[in-house]
Amino acid sequence: MAVNTRVPLIAGNWKMNLDHLQAIAFVQKLAWSLKDAGHDFTSTEVAVFPPFTDLRSVQTLVAADKLPLAYGGQDVSTQESGAYTGEISAAFLAALECQYVLIGHSERRTLHNETDEVVAAKVTAALKHNLVPIICVGETAADLELHGPSAVPVAQLKAALAGVDNAADIVVAYEPVWAIGSGQAATPDQAEQVAAALRTTLAEVLGQDVADKTRILYGGSVKGVNIAGFMKEPNVDGALVGGASLDITEFSSIVRFQKHVGL
Ligand code: PEP
Repeated sequence: MAVNTRVPLIAGNWKMNLDHLQAIAFVQKLAWSLKDAGHDFTSTEVAVFPPFTDLRSVQTLVAADKLPLAYGGQDVSTQESGAYTGEISAAFLAALECQYVLIGHSERRTLHNETDEVVAAKVTAALKHNLVPIICVGETAADLELHGPSAVPVAQLKAALAGVDNAADIVVAYEPVWAIGSGQAATPDQAEQVAAALRTTLAEVLGQDVADKTRILYGGSVKGVNIAGFMKEPNVDGALVGGASLDITEFSSIVRFQKHVGL
């Protein structure tokens, strides 16, 4: 069995919260709070996903203060440029030195009717500009009842990988829709079962080497009190955090999960 060299990633999805001025204050405080607590950013990577209008401010701050934080967009266009009102291209995100981009979040799939084909096209667009796509997959409560835990996330992942080759750097986020913002997180066992199925899918589609190096995050009502349980699971390599990423104390506690469990 391959040795796990995957660096955990804790990613904060701010959704439509914090304007650019609030973002500057928040990122400064977050970085200082983690530094003060002695957080080792090489042992657990931290990324934030602010609204598009904040990204330039976050870029300027991170560069000027040499903050060890990654950041990215919450979505990206399938298109390169042109008459696509309201869209933001992968090239624009890359120009702001984003490292990551969230793709296929369940709120995009549900509220904006994003299909698996659209998600796949966004993944291809992101990779073309050397952005690491964080591909979000997850089942609804109805899917869970009808198909069990892994079928829908696995099918979504297979579809999202349609244009991906085995040199690609990607991250997968397993986010059961029923757990997002509900306060009802999956159990670590449930998260592990689906994460293991997703890793098997990565191996089938992209090969064992890619499967071994790809980080799989869990998302859905993650908090400081439950993160350690997820991180003890062999196939869970971090978390995608919504609500709790807007609270510096809570988010810092999630980032510092190693302290809770003596890992
Ligand atoms: C999310 O929206 O990606 C998410 C995981 O939200 P929350 O942590 O609030 O459940």
